[in-house]
Amino acid sequence: MREVLKVSERVSLGSDFDYEVIVIGAGIAGLYQLYRLRESGVRTRVFESGTGVGGTWYWNRYPGARCDVESMQYSYSFDQTLQQDWHWAEKYATQPEILGYLNHVTDRFDLRKNIEFDTEITSAHFDEGSRCWDIKTNVGGHLLAQFFIMATGCISTPQTPKIEGFSAYQGKTYHTGTWPHEKVDFTGQRIAVIGTGSSGIQSIPVLAKEADHVTVFQRTPHWSVPARNVPMTDEYEKEWKEDYAVRREKMRYSVSGSLKKLKSLDVPALSVSVDEREEIFRERWEAGGMIYLRSFSDLLTKQEANDTAAEYVRERIRGIVKDPETAELLAPKTYPIGTKRLCLDTNYYETFNRDNVELVDISSQPIRQMTPTGLRANGRNFEFDSVVFAIGFDAMTGTLFNVDIRGRKGRMLKEKWHAGPRTYLGLMSADFPNMFMITGPGSPSVKSNMLTSIEQHVEFVVDGLMYMRDNCLELIEPELKAEDEWVDHVQEAANATLFPRANSWYMGANIPGKPRLFMPYIGGVGRYRKICEEIVENGYRGFKVQAKTSGAAAAE
Ligand code: NAP
Repeated sequence: MREVLKVSERVSLGSDFDYEVIVIGAGIAGLYQLYRLRESGVRTRVFESGTGVGGTWYWNRYPGARCDVESMQYSYSFDQTLQQDWHWAEKYATQPEILGYLNHVTDRFDLRKNIEFDTEITSAHFDEGSRCWDIKTNVGGHLLAQFFIMATGCISTPQTPKIEGFSAYQGKTYHTGTWPHEKVDFTGQRIAVIGTGSSGIQSIPVLAKEADHVTVFQRTPHWSVPARNVPMTDEYEKEWKEDYAVRREKMRYSVSGSLKKLKSLDVPALSVSVDEREEIFRERWEAGGMIYLRSFSDLLTKQEANDTAAEYVRERIRGIVKDPETAELLAPKTYPIGTKRLCLDTNYYETFNRDNVELVDISSQPIRQMTPTGLRANGRNFEFDSVVFAIGFDAMTGTLFNVDIRGRKGRMLKEKWHAGPRTYLGLMSADFPNMFMITGPGSPSVKSNMLTSIEQHVEFVVDGLMYMRDNCLELIEPELKAEDEWVDHVQEAANATLFPRANSWYMGANIPGKPRLFMPYIGGVGRYRKICEEIVENGYRGFKVQAKTSGAAAAE
């Protein structure tokens, strides 16, 4: 007789399972998954380790945190009234505004009552006898569910600092990915920021205005272009709202899941004259945003083309940063532009012209040690009141591995993926029946507007569950052959680009010992969507299903 969880006592239990579906995570993906499942009459419970909804936007509360996909597009499209009602204050929304929006959605659709907060899922084991997932939480006991969905996001497990003497340091430490809920006041403080990726680049200009002194420790300079954020205008909002249905559909079949005001140019960079090229780069730099990378058709596939875009940005950095030595340190030279995620900034390079900001290059010598009063690097002792770690995440697989997930025959997901993630479409993995991942590795996920990709995955999962319900099916999982072919396809797509040349988190290269391979699918959101549609039209080709009675059968 199994011990019944404390949490499950608070909700009604079904006869066969506690829930038909258990979803982990109440971020953008988990909330929409819950909404759609509930609309379809599926008994669902969401478990969330935080005390509130929001996922990424719940945890990443560091000063300056904001989204670099336009707010009119970084929002749900599933409800016409919601998208007409909601007003975004700026072109790119801040973290508090996005969190406010997600809380609004939660309340508007009355989702909170189906979410168990402050509860971590510690293990999920597939039980071959009962054909369900046996799920344990940190509260104790266990729950049974027919389906189990990891909606845990791609960038959710912060990398912990592994610096000798860390515990000896007596000042305050912060990680951008787990920022305190209350306002941190750095007034009058000497602070260190370690890390210059998106989180560092967004927070450093804001911190520099508040703190007495900021020392930035840079291991590798990141590429950044201006965001050119502006307040939302009535005109722009109206233009989008009047045309939302058409634009959302275009987004779904676009390359990145979002639309850009400037069109992508369909010509190679070297096919135009030097002056024309410079003019196009200048126009995009001035416009701001990710469109810079789409100035020409081959910037991310041809090194010589990429070099032209890279040199233009280096020149702009040299033009902004007054101290030539600092400018050279800030100008990336060791990997192609765009192959680590391009950062969008507001006055990042300008910040290094301030008297209270110092850049310390640690590319050749890592930070050796933390001391009770600061840290030791480059043969110098630094003293700080606070140290901010903006050192990133164990992306894409870290959060999946934090849960002890075991499929058929007790096989661990972590063990199956020891040489890199193996999924079919980034949605499922063979031998892990009825377990889905929303925007898992092998899907466009982080190479897209996450909202567009999340909505597509959530809808794919719900449609799949309805298909199973209609056809009296009990189990679904990928065929091994289909999965192997997809894994190869994901790598082929990446290898046709310059992405593998960077030591990025896309490649797992930021985590010591992690297999080095490109994890998201770079083939494009529209192309990926069409592949998924074609698979469904062909009776879920590549998936095998098992009927409620017995016996495995291919879906076709
Ligand atoms: P990140 O891009 O991985 O950057 C981490 C930074 O920390 C890098 O500069 C890295 O240097 C450095 N670092 C890591 N370990 C270090 C160590 N031991 N000593 C010194 N430096 C170290 O992480 P992130 O900035 O948090 O961003 C992660 C992703 O989250 C982004 O790429 C983006 O997808 C997402 N994000 C988005 C937004 C947005 O939408 N605006 C904002 C923030 C984050 P190396 O480069 O040498 O490894």
